Amino acid sequence: MKLRAMARVLTMVMATMGASVAVGSSAEARTRTRNVVLFVADGLRPSSLNPTDAPTLVRLQKEGVFFGNSHSLYPTVTTANASALATGHQLGDTGDFANTIYDGSQVINSGTPFIEDDEILAELDAQTGGNYLGEKSLLAVARADGFSTAAIGKVGPTLIQDVSQGDRSVKLPATIFIDDRTATGKGVPLDPAIAVALTAALGSTTPPARNSKPPTRDDNGYSGTSQTPGTRVANVRQQQFLTDAVTKVILPEFKKRGKPFVLVFWSRDPDATQHNQGDSLGDLATGINGPTSRSAVHNADDTLRRILEAVEGDRALAATTDVVVTSDHGFSTISRRDVDAGGHASQSPSTKRRAPDVRPGDLPPGFVAIDVAAHLGMKLCDPDRVAIGLDGHSGYVPVGPDEHPSLGNGLIGPSCIVEKPHDGKVIVAANGGTDLIYVPDGDAARIADVTTFLLGQDYVDALFVDAPPNVVPGALSLRDINFVGSALLPAPSIVVALKTFSRDPHDPIGSQVDVSDTTLQEGQGGHGSFGRADVTNTMIAFGPDFKQGFVDHSPASNADLPVTLAQILGLALPSRGRLRGRVLAEAITGGPTAVSATCGEAVSAPNKDGLRTALHFQTAAGVRYLDAAKKFSGPIVWGDSFDALPCTRSKRGPKATTKPSPKTSPKPSPKP
Ligand SMILES: [Zn+2]
Ligand SMILES: [Zn+2]
Repeated sequence: MKLRAMARVLTMVMATMGASVAVGSSAEARTRTRNVVLFVADGLRPSSLNPTDAPTLVRLQKEGVFFGNSHSLYPTVTTANASALATGHQLGDTGDFANTIYDGSQVINSGTPFIEDDEILAELDAQTGGNYLGEKSLLAVARADGFSTAAIGKVGPTLIQDVSQGDRSVKLPATIFIDDRTATGKGVPLDPAIAVALTAALGSTTPPARNSKPPTRDDNGYSGTSQTPGTRVANVRQQQFLTDAVTKVILPEFKKRGKPFVLVFWSRDPDATQHNQGDSLGDLATGINGPTSRSAVHNADDTLRRILEAVEGDRALAATTDVVVTSDHGFSTISRRDVDAGGHASQSPSTKRRAPDVRPGDLPPGFVAIDVAAHLGMKLCDPDRVAIGLDGHSGYVPVGPDEHPSLGNGLIGPSCIVEKPHDGKVIVAANGGTDLIYVPDGDAARIADVTTFLLGQDYVDALFVDAPPNVVPGALSLRDINFVGSALLPAPSIVVALKTFSRDPHDPIGSQVDVSDTTLQEGQGGHGSFGRADVTNTMIAFGPDFKQGFVDHSPASNADLPVTLAQILGLALPSRGRLRGRVLAEAITGGPTAVSATCGEAVSAPNKDGLRTALHFQTAAGVRYLDAAKKFSGPIVWGDSFDALPCTRSKRGPKATTKPSPKTSPKPSPKP
């Protein structure tokens, strides 16, 4: 019997018993068993949901709750959203501001660590008392309450679901983690009994690698070069192993234990394949809408189908298990040259460099760091290449005039020597569609100088600074984007949203292009920007506690899901910070049809050239949902898709978007 039918039977049975299935209170929820499967399809766009590529998702979309006004948290990157999905808090509380960060020290071998890595997460935990997020996660709370817990899938966001279990002081985590690093010596320890069961069922405890040596176009991890297209296969091999681990080992083990469970599956596809696909080298028109990207959507759908079959094939599980699907962020096609739909190429000074691995005229990886270093007249150093013996000191490799930082990150200062205190005056952490800039000494004049310089660059779309509103003309404040909270890790001084544009006005989201600070090529895929295609994620909820055949038009985000699931499971999710998501009551059986939402806008003061950063957002139940941000030189016009958002505008009428709504903007910036 299908899950939906089981749920209906359960509803009838409970109705006869005089009980209610509505999730009214935690106490009520504790009287019955509930399990949760949270399935994250990394980088899945709602526009990918069609019956050919995604039959399972389309079925759940129709039969369960589809969130038609859903949000990734900005910056629209993986670990930032993983932190929200784990804890129910926005980034100002979790401190996970992006995948590549600067935390004031060298972490393992980088001054700008890429934190999709179990060892680096353990290091961040060690620096912050055992949990770098500073908030308890849903998995941690469920585990402490006697639930069985597991997180399976892509390395990084998987461990983040219960990250304190990856702390080196934990000899054997009670949560089961299986990711790319399992049993390689660089992963989180695995329960020996689970390891034995994995070996018996699958012949190994380690998922297959995504690349052979040397990699070819038939390896999913192969990203190609500026001359050679990337992969032509989805991440099928690895994902099959991880799915088998769930259906053949984890779910049977949970059933044997007889306790309720929370299981997170983090599907690397379609993200991995959309990034690396070789369908469209140098071709913005095909971009991430080619056959290889579509096969990755199908791969994620097939993974979900198999997990769902394991749940629905068991009557007891089907009646007690809620399945929530989300994506951490949307996706766009990468531009390394054009900065608008008219085909105008960036005039950045960095495009004059001639690195052998960069197509002549392209923005090289690290173009923000290169331009900022030149503007400041300081040395550019590569924080991902450690150098020993710089004048007898240790430091980072200097970046030469026809070179670029290896991964796009830059440490900028009078020298490349790194000793305490180090010489880095400005650190750039590249994150695809957004770069984070840190000014460790907090020099307000330098922050303002770098911000003003970047505002004039053709590849910049919006700027946010660690300063009170209107102190730096042209930029909004970090507070405007929910960056100011109880975070343990340092916040950046400047957030640089890179340019996005749409190639097709009739399909602005499906044809979005992101100027990206990345080592990937034009025509491949990326995200991280403040454009609608990256902010719009995919959210679906399905199972005994959710409405059936319901489209939820109220604003929702990844930070709302753990808060909602905690209520359904009858768990109290404690909070340090106040940037918390809301319970999506309108999606739950017996809940209201909608919550009231207002549209708001924050607009910076203009700089001397009349440039302003503007942010569009919605507010519901005290939560601010960020829709998009852009740089404007004239009147602020968001366009039809924003006008169509189901939120109440100020009394000036449906298109009066140029004024901040006094009700919804806690810090309305004065309009010039
Ligand atoms: Zn992702
Ligand atoms: Zn990605």
